Amino acid sequence: MKDLLLSRRQALKGLALGAGTLLVAGTVAADAVKPGTAPAALPHVAATDPMALALSYVENAKTVDPKKFPNYKPEHKCANCLQSKGKDGEAWVGCNLFPGKLVNAQGWCKAYVPKKA
Ligand code: SF4
Repeated sequence: MKDLLLSRRQALKGLALGAGTLLVAGTVAADAVKPGTAPAALPHVAATDPMALALSYVENAKTVDPKKFPNYKPEHKCANCLQSKGKDGEAWVGCNLFPGKLVNAQGWCKAYVPKKA
């Protein structure tokens, strides 16, 4: 749990989200999942989700504009992100930055960090 909190803190720290971060954090806390909820039953992150907007999350990483996000590489996607909690082959996966929701395994956001090989 400590590692999870540090990872999330480090990811958010680097994004310079400004004052909106506090509002988003409150929204995330309110979205907490009841214990025992099956992962498949979790809602997908909506394009209108405040955290998704703040992180420029998209369901299809192929739609990312590399001019707008120069750190983006074609192989970057939620399925191979350090924040992902999914298993290989899953279409929708958990993400440490979206507690209680699922992101598309082929998605991407600007908090992407590659998993260590
Ligand atoms: S790129 Fe990583 S941090 Fe961003 S939504 Fe996907 S799994 Fe989460």
